[in-house]
Parts: sequence; structure tokens; C-alpha cells
Amino acid sequence: MKRKILYISSEAYPLIKTGGLADVAGSLPTALHNNDQDVCLLLPAYQTILDKLSEKKVVAETSHYGQEIRILETTLPGSSIKTWLVDCTQMFDRPGNPYLADDGISWPDNAERFALFAQTAVDIALNRCGLSWQPDVVHCNDWQSALVPALLKTFPKGPATVFTIHNMAYQGIFSSQTFFDLGLPAGLWGMYGLEFHDQFSFIKGGLVYSDRINTVSPTYAKEIQQAEFGYGLDPLLNHRSQQLSGIINGIDTDVWNPETDKLLVQNYSRDSLRGKLENKLVLQKQLNLPVKKGIPIIAMISRLVEQKGLQSILDAMPELMQLPLQIVILGSGEKHYEEALLDWANQFPDKLSLTIGYNEVLAHQIEAAADMYLMPSTFEPCGLNQLYSLCYGTLPLARNVGGLADTVIDTNDLTLADNSANGFIVSQNTAESLLSTLKQALETYQNQKLWKQLQHNAMSPDRSWQSSALQYIDLYEKAIQDNSHRF
Ligand code: ADP
Repeated sequence: MKRKILYISSEAYPLIKTGGLADVAGSLPTALHNNDQDVCLLLPAYQTILDKLSEKKVVAETSHYGQEIRILETTLPGSSIKTWLVDCTQMFDRPGNPYLADDGISWPDNAERFALFAQTAVDIALNRCGLSWQPDVVHCNDWQSALVPALLKTFPKGPATVFTIHNMAYQGIFSSQTFFDLGLPAGLWGMYGLEFHDQFSFIKGGLVYSDRINTVSPTYAKEIQQAEFGYGLDPLLNHRSQQLSGIINGIDTDVWNPETDKLLVQNYSRDSLRGKLENKLVLQKQLNLPVKKGIPIIAMISRLVEQKGLQSILDAMPELMQLPLQIVILGSGEKHYEEALLDWANQFPDKLSLTIGYNEVLAHQIEAAADMYLMPSTFEPCGLNQLYSLCYGTLPLARNVGGLADTVIDTNDLTLADNSANGFIVSQNTAESLLSTLKQALETYQNQKLWKQLQHNAMSPDRSWQSSALQYIDLYEKAIQDNSHRF
């Protein structure tokens, strides 16, 4: 059935991206549209986005918190998805990161910025802005849009709501005073509402009030119901377990496909992997590493934060630097990790190439050039880089958590026999475990026939959005049904 879906996100590729959420918000709407759904995307009009737009058409106006707000209409580049931008100069028209000021600390007015974003979303969701479009489902993502389901439930009739958790570690926690300063409906306060240990929690808006909750992999959906991964919200998630599910992310195969990727020196496919070697030799030269085809490259493209297993990598460094390999890291994040890695890269320039920063072109080139991908995350809601790696025949070394557990199949006799093996599992969050898995992978790499089989296995499955988009459409129907019971 054709439904109208308002998809709300704080980032979407290619307009603005800080992490995996942008990749999802930039590609799931198109997959839904291709399955006959009427989808509109809603984003804040950050300066970065405004700078990219050639024309800015104002289609509606509203105001909240004493601020004038314009709704701009555009199309998500590379798609036909209608995109509305919440344009409020004071809140969003500033340089830099959507969430962080230059010093790496959250913008001090984040609560107000994303409350204003949510209030405007509610105007649209209730068709009160004159846009003549009434969604059946409002799909919110992460804390930045989590107030929307809460606010919508304060109206007698409203669209169904779905809330997707992309990362439980980011919850949008502010002081209780902030809740009252924002003039939010008093009925939303309290431990069964937006209060969390005397503080104000944005993410609880999605977790308590949405009709359906999902997260981005089936394993992470189970993990967040446990104390270890639930950040104190596990009892609430247990309570809502009947409405909680996991849907693995797909990938945008127009952007991530070694057969067509225009950023590569040479395209290749699972049946013709010769081009992959060409990419490797060019990258080694470009990064000033010794140009040697027989030495495996192990890559990492990531935010440099604890979640991504940086500590176990740094602990393993003394031994890693003695192994026959080259490590290529592209990323940015916490300064102490950047500096520690830089120290190692300066000491071992022939072994470790470190590029600090964010570089999409290089990310594609590294995925194509590398032999293995390092992802020893302590937790991983879905993870996209292991999916890109699998498609590029770059075998992941990954922890068995979250979406990694759902997509990376360890190499052993059983999985080799049924052709499902596609990588190597790091079983513990320790340097020893990482090194032992890496040594197994290096040994396997010596058997090039076996390695090719693993690459073939990794590159074979369809990892596009199609199957997950159908699961979302099913979830929307369930949310509509649950919402209808309210009336
Ligand atoms: P997370 O959302 O936790 O950061 P994901 O694996 O889900 O992790 O998604 C990260 C996305 O950001 C991927 O598309 C990855 O390629 C990209 N990315 C991360 N760091 C960089 C970087 N320094 N340069 C280019 N792309 C990056």
C-alpha cells in the first residue's frame, strides 16, 4: 500500500554527513520510493547545506521559540526525493559540524536547536504549515529528532511514529531545567516520560512514545536490552520489546560498487579481481608506502573514538609493527587517539600510513586497495564500513557485536564448506584477541586460492537496500495499526 512517509534526520548524504546515519538517510528514502512509497525527507538547513544549494525555494513559514523559520524545498542530490529544510538562521546557519563547535564540544544551544527542529517537524507532520501533505508515518532517527514522537502523542490525532536507534551511546541528555525552559508539555515530564535520573533525555521521546522502535541490526536490538549495551535504558527497552525490532542497513550500491565506482583507479568485480591489485599499487605509491603487491594492506576508515576499538589497536601496535603488513588509517576524532597513532606512524612510516581528516574520495580508494578491513568495535549498532569492505572484496576483521555479528562470518571449516565465510572474528576486546585473529588472517592470506574464495563469498550477496526497505514498509504498517488503537 502506498503510504506517505515523513523521514526526519539530522544528516543525509550527500548534503551533510558526520557518520553512518547520513548514509542511511541518504539512501533508504530512495529505496522506499522505488517500492512505491511517497517519501519526503526533513533536515535542518545547516550552512553547509545552504552553500550547496543553487536555488532556495521557500514553501512554508512558521515560528517557534521567538525564531522565524522557513521551510525550504529542494531535492536530495542524485535522487528524486523531495527534501524540506528547516531554515532558522540563528540555529542552523553557522559554519562547521552540525553538532559540535570548533573546540569539539557540543554547541551550547543544541537542546534549543533540536527542540525547534522537532516543533517544526510536528507542524509538518500535522499538516499545519500549508504544505498540503499529511504523512501516514513519521520516521524519526536518533536523539536529534526523538522529541517528535513525544510531541505528536500530545495531540489527539496524529500520524503513526517509528523511531530508529542508530547509536544508543548518544542520547541527547540535558538538565531538567532545559525541559522547562523549552516550554514542553508538562505531561511529558516524569520517569515514564522524558525524565532520566533527574535529567532531560531527548532519546526517551523516541523510546517511550513512538509506536514502533527499531535499531539497525537484529543483534544490536537484542544487545540494547542488556545492561552492558543499554546505558540504563535497558529496562525501558525490555518493557517495549514487543515493539522493538532490528533491520540491518543496506548500502547505496550506486555509490559503493567496485564495478562502477568512478573514484577508483580501476574497476573490478568478484569474477575479475585483477583491477583490485592495480588500486593497491597506486595507493601504496600515493601514501608513500613501499609498493609491494604481496604485502597485505589492512585498512581502517573511521571516527577515532573508543567505540571503534582504538584502545585494543594501540595496545597491539608494538607487535603489529613487527608483522608482515601495511596498515592504512583514515580518520579523525579524539585528539589523544590521533596523537598516539601519529607517533606510531612517524616511527614506522613504511608500515603505517595515517591520514587525519575526512576524505570521501580516499575512503573509496582505500576500500578498493586494501586486502583486509579492521573493525574491532566494542559495540556496533550496524556498521557500514564492513559492508562496503565486503562488497569491495576487502575481508573484515571484526568483533562479534551488533551488526558486525550479523554480517561478518568467521572463516572456519564449516563456513568454508558452505561458502558463507567472508572474514575473521575478533572474539574479545583485547590486543591479544586482535593479534591472534590477525595472525590467522595473515596465514590465510598466504593461500591465495582460499583468499579468492573468501573474496568471492564476501562479494556475492546482494547488500542493496531492497530487502531492508521491504522490512521498513512492513514496520510502517505495524506502526499504523498500533497508532489506530489509540483512537
Ligand atoms: P559510525 O556511524 O559509527 O561512524 P559507520 O560504520 O556506521 O560508523 O559509518 C561511518 C561512515 O562514515 C562510513 O560511510 C565511513 O566510510 C565514513 N567515514 C568515517 N570516517 C571517515 C573519514 N575520515 N573519511 C571518510 N569517510 C569516513
